[in-house]
Amino acid sequence: MILAANFKMNHTRASTREYLEKLEEHESGGVELYVFPPATALQAHSGKVRVGAQNAYAAVHGSFTGEIGLQQLQEFGINTLILGHSERRHIFGESQELIAKKFAFYKEQGFRIFYCVGETSKERDKGSEAIHRAIEAQLVGVDLEYEKLIVAYEPVWAIGTGKSATPEDITEVLAFLRSKTSAPLLYGGSVKPANIQEILHIEQCDGALIGTASWDITTMQEMIDLAKEI
Ligand code: PEP
Repeated sequence: MILAANFKMNHTRASTREYLEKLEEHESGGVELYVFPPATALQAHSGKVRVGAQNAYAAVHGSFTGEIGLQQLQEFGINTLILGHSERRHIFGESQELIAKKFAFYKEQGFRIFYCVGETSKERDKGSEAIHRAIEAQLVGVDLEYEKLIVAYEPVWAIGTGKSATPEDITEVLAFLRSKTSAPLLYGGSVKPANIQEILHIEQCDGALIGTASWDITTMQEMIDLAKEI
C-alpha cells in the first residue's frame, strides 16, 4: 500500500522538516510513504519516508529561469518525481509533449515517477469512452512498462474540491489503466479519513495520492492508521 502526500504550494522548509520527523515517528505498518514538498523545501532525508519533487525540468542544469533540474534534485538525493499533475497541465499549460520529454529524461536517470492522469468534468459528462480517450491522450510518450512507474488516477474535478469520485467510477478507470500497465495504481482526488478505507478497498487500487488532507500531520497519521487496517 502506498500513501503519498502532495504538499503543492504549502509548507516551508522548517515545517516540512517537522512533518517528516513526526511521520518517521509514526508506525507505518508496511504502508510505503512519500512526501512531495514544494521545491524550496526539498531536503536530504533518510528513513522510511521518501521525499520527492512535485515537478522538474528535463535537463541537468541550464538557462531555464524558474525551474529546477537534475542537479538541484541530486543535491538532496531526490530520485522521486510527480509528473503530469493536472495543476501543471491546466494551470501552467504543460503540454503532453513537454510532460513526455520530462518522463523520458527522468526515466533515463532512474527516477521513481508518479505519473498523473485524469479527466475533466466535461469529459466525464460525455461518458466512459471520452474518459478513456482523455486518459489515453495523457499517456502518449509514456513508457507504461517502466519498472519505477506509479500511475495516479486523479480526476480533475475531484482534486481539491472535497468531492471524491465514487468507488464505481474509480473501479472502472483503474480497470482500464490495469489493462495498459502493471504499474501500481493510485487514486487521488479529495481523499480524506472519511473515505480512504473505501477507496483503498477497491480491487486495483494500490494506494492514494493525497493533497489537502495530507497537509496536517495528524490527519495524515490518521489516514496511515486507516490504511494499515486494509
Ligand atoms: C492532488 O493534488 O494530487 C490531490 C489529490 O489533491 P486533493 O487531495 O486536495 O484533492
